[in-house]
Amino acid sequence: MTENRAIHLLSPRLANQIAAGEVVERPSSVAKELLENCLDAGAQRIDIDVEQGGVKRLQIRDDGHGIPADQLPLALARHATSKIAALEDLEGVASLGFRGEALASISSVSRLTLTSRTADADQAWQVEVEGRDMEPRVQPAAHPIGTTVEVCDLFFNTPARRKFLRTEKTEFDHLQDVIKRMALARFDVAFHLRHNGKSVLALHPANDEVSQARRIAAVCGDAFLEQALPINIERNGLHLWGWVGLPTFSRSRADMQHFFVNGRIVSDRLVAHAVRQAYRDVMYGGRHPAFVLFLELDPSSVDVNVHPTKHEVRFRENRSVHDFLYSTLHRAIADVRPEDKLEPAS
Ligand code: ADP
Ligand code: MG
Repeated sequence: MTENRAIHLLSPRLANQIAAGEVVERPSSVAKELLENCLDAGAQRIDIDVEQGGVKRLQIRDDGHGIPADQLPLALARHATSKIAALEDLEGVASLGFRGEALASISSVSRLTLTSRTADADQAWQVEVEGRDMEPRVQPAAHPIGTTVEVCDLFFNTPARRKFLRTEKTEFDHLQDVIKRMALARFDVAFHLRHNGKSVLALHPANDEVSQARRIAAVCGDAFLEQALPINIERNGLHLWGWVGLPTFSRSRADMQHFFVNGRIVSDRLVAHAVRQAYRDVMYGGRHPAFVLFLELDPSSVDVNVHPTKHEVRFRENRSVHDFLYSTLHRAIADVRPEDKLEPAS
């Protein structure tokens, strides 16, 4: 029996740590949240610098619009966001973030430094927090226009969570995966990744077809690009474009399936089902197709506020989205002439 304690409000720190359980699972989930913030801030270049798989240190710098000095402490507070103001805003939310929880959650389970400078400020400012419940102090700093978030010693104060972290390599693989997915979502943005002092990934802005293909190859490999079919179809307000792997390019795992809804990375049961159906007749059981697909539709016909990680979405016109995906993909794959399905002779 637990003793009968009086009801009391949790401290903000504890409340944040509990909430962090929902969005911060490992370095890659920190990276996802921080990268979303960079993109929401209009960044054109993002630099990610990582030590020990991101557990020791994960630093993300952008050249976006920055945060004014007087708002820096607020950025770290729970339920503090600049992205929505009213429930109606959620209806057609175009930003990747809107919950105002990421920085509060991350800073409650790490040592976090937030440095930022806006275009009209003549210098940068910084706040530092570390597992404390006090108001962060704003200090002057040196930084170009934009924002850097440095997250050190993830889960240093939550050993139960730290236990679930895997090897440096595994954590780094997850992290790299998130960055690559983001890089597919935004061809126009440059991404640079360093791990333990070495450059691992340098993706330049890809604003034409040739450089987009180059980015696809850098992320998914040359083999995928050689055996992928570009598609681009619009019907009844639904626009699907991207690259679908030919049935010959099947994989033993579903590890090369990138689906984006209005630029948001999504792993959705409805989408997965439609794709599986489309490939059903041309792919052996147990094999998985590879694809990079972008679905664009009116933001108000998709609900993104389904899950804290925002990985799931809910379509208002469930059925018609499914049918559109299925029929578009089915036709695209069926249209491939038999000789195209042969692997190129090498
Ligand atoms: P959300 O993204 O849901 O608003 P976050 O906790 O991720 O919540 O961020 C809180 C706020 O801090 C954001 O609404 C934004 O105003 C500001 N912010 C965070 N990261 C950045 C960034 N990289 N550049 C500019 N502003 C940022
Ligand atoms: Mg955010």
